[in-house]
Amino acid sequence: MSVSRLIQNGLERCRGIRDMVGNTPLLAIHLRFRGEPRVIYAKAEHLNLTGSIKDRMALHILERAYLDGAIHPGDRIAEATSGNTGIAFSAIGKALGHSVEICMPNWMSQERVSLIRAFGATIRPVSHDEGGFLGSIRLCEELKRRESGVFLPRQFSNPANIEAHRVGTGPEIAAQLSHRGLKAKAFVAGVGTGGTVMGVGQYLKSLDSGVHIHPLEPAESPTLSTGCKVGRHRIQGVSDEFIPPIVDLQSLNDIIAVADGDAILMAQRLACELGLGVGISSGANLIGALMAQDRLGPEAVVVTIFCDDNKKYLSTDLLREEQTRPGYLSPEVELVAYEAMPRANLSM
Ligand code: PMP
Repeated sequence: MSVSRLIQNGLERCRGIRDMVGNTPLLAIHLRFRGEPRVIYAKAEHLNLTGSIKDRMALHILERAYLDGAIHPGDRIAEATSGNTGIAFSAIGKALGHSVEICMPNWMSQERVSLIRAFGATIRPVSHDEGGFLGSIRLCEELKRRESGVFLPRQFSNPANIEAHRVGTGPEIAAQLSHRGLKAKAFVAGVGTGGTVMGVGQYLKSLDSGVHIHPLEPAESPTLSTGCKVGRHRIQGVSDEFIPPIVDLQSLNDIIAVADGDAILMAQRLACELGLGVGISSGANLIGALMAQDRLGPEAVVVTIFCDDNKKYLSTDLLREEQTRPGYLSPEVELVAYEAMPRANLSM
């Protein structure tokens, strides 16, 4: 088979799995906050192929790379990740016929490590002493310099990460709301690479420049507010060790901080009380969305993301008893019910 035929084949394989990524339901979460009826809208990204929002970015980056000739059949994909990206590239990379190498900090949940291995990818664990997250990125860059046939998605600096959400997640949210005659007043999303908050933010702002776009970070480890790694937190997938190059804080509204224990309590309650099995950052996002709504008024349409499912957290504090603390919002929330709004079915 000629090389161009093989590339064509890669693109065809991308198209072949597109229906398994994105086009998720938007959930209307009905709740009471301090006794007042509220609705928060949450995009059900835990329903993606590998159970997280990162499938969108992984598929989009690979599709772009095929179109630009940046990846070739047989290339090895190497990426630095705190977990979900690794799982997404491992599964989608394999679906497209690539081998995958994942460099990741060695303190991520065992489930993440096992899942990546289950997809046949190689894991290079990186300790705090070896540089943690930044060390993982350095390892990938070294690999690319040393060896030929290596493709680096570079999720923290690749504009295609933002683009995945500007052309996918954002338009889906707007279409799903407009189906009910609604328009977003605010959007809140925890920042890992920042692809979600930047991409959805750019699209919603193109429709209404007055929409509020809030990045969210853990209160215990405010990387965005301080510009560097401080403290420790348990909201895996957000607030790595630096402000990613694709994040432009100037273009966003103020940063919302949520305590990791509060996020855990909220994620536990979403599972126990509504049957929604989502991860810790989803709990944080729901609390952050309530904070944003509190400023704008109880009727404001505020949208957030349920980033991943709870299956990767079975060995973590998500499944342990968590004490509430003064200032936590989750004890003031009564979850009532949720309804899944129809999928947007936009053709891309
Ligand atoms: N939550 C979880 C569980 C994640 O894995 C990620 C991605 N690292 C995020 C939130 C943040 O998404 P983004 O990288 O688009 O900022």
